[in-house]
Amino acid sequence: MMIRQISVNRVQDAVRDLLIELAYRLPADYLAAMHVAREEEPSSLGGDILTMLLDNAAYAEAERIPTCQDTGMAILFLEVGQDVHFCDGDLNQALHAAVEEAYRDLRKSVVDDPLLRRNTGDNTPPIIHYEIVPGDQVHITALMKGFGAELMSRLRMMPPSEGVEGVKRFVLETVKLAGPNACPPLIVGVGLGGSFDTVALLAKKALIRPLGEPNPQPHLAQLERELLESINDLDIGPQGFGGMTTALAVHVEAYATHIAALPVAVNLNCSAPRVGKLRIED
Ligand code: SF4
Repeated sequence: MMIRQISVNRVQDAVRDLLIELAYRLPADYLAAMHVAREEEPSSLGGDILTMLLDNAAYAEAERIPTCQDTGMAILFLEVGQDVHFCDGDLNQALHAAVEEAYRDLRKSVVDDPLLRRNTGDNTPPIIHYEIVPGDQVHITALMKGFGAELMSRLRMMPPSEGVEGVKRFVLETVKLAGPNACPPLIVGVGLGGSFDTVALLAKKALIRPLGEPNPQPHLAQLERELLESINDLDIGPQGFGGMTTALAVHVEAYATHIAALPVAVNLNCSAPRVGKLRIED
């Protein structure tokens, strides 16, 4: 079996460049969904807000200024083929350096300790999730996560007796409580199952799925559709000014769980959903 050597320097450069792009350019799938939403939004104020958000995105891209003053905390998902060997240094250090370089001209939003709250001054450390997969490829997904929406995200360990209706109630309650504070239009990531720790990660992974791509399992795809419809009936609307575009998509990710619990987590993403993916090339 051939082991593929990959320099951590190449990973560092690729992640830095991706993060820099994400700060200025919102994903194409998000912009396409926003254009559709603007055509369909019945509220004139809601429609105006969508137009402003689209104008803001176009201006940010043209002028290379951040789409939002909050450039978020960097969250990195690495899928690493088991036939890969990283060389030329420490992979974790390379990823930290990539974040530091990418955020040089961006707002510094990370504190070193949740209670002492000293700004690290370079937006490190990132949050890094590794997954080992077959093969010799390395795929990286980066999320520059705004914390207005993160702050309004919630998790609950429900008894199984609450069932799918309990899940729906919890998701809707979370979006209602968030109101304008999560900066809608939202992307709503829902995690179901697993354990206390896993369900939050499932909800986060739901946010990095291509926008509006349904869950392959029919019952979960149906739940996504029903939740999206109910959320958009809440009349929160773009930035909370009313209308039917409260969310552009609901993505549900599920995993096996224990007979005693029905864990559910709702992770919200905002109107600056900076998600990008790359593959480390030869
Ligand atoms: S939640 Fe998103 S849109 Fe709102 S301020 Fe933070 S990054 Fe910006």
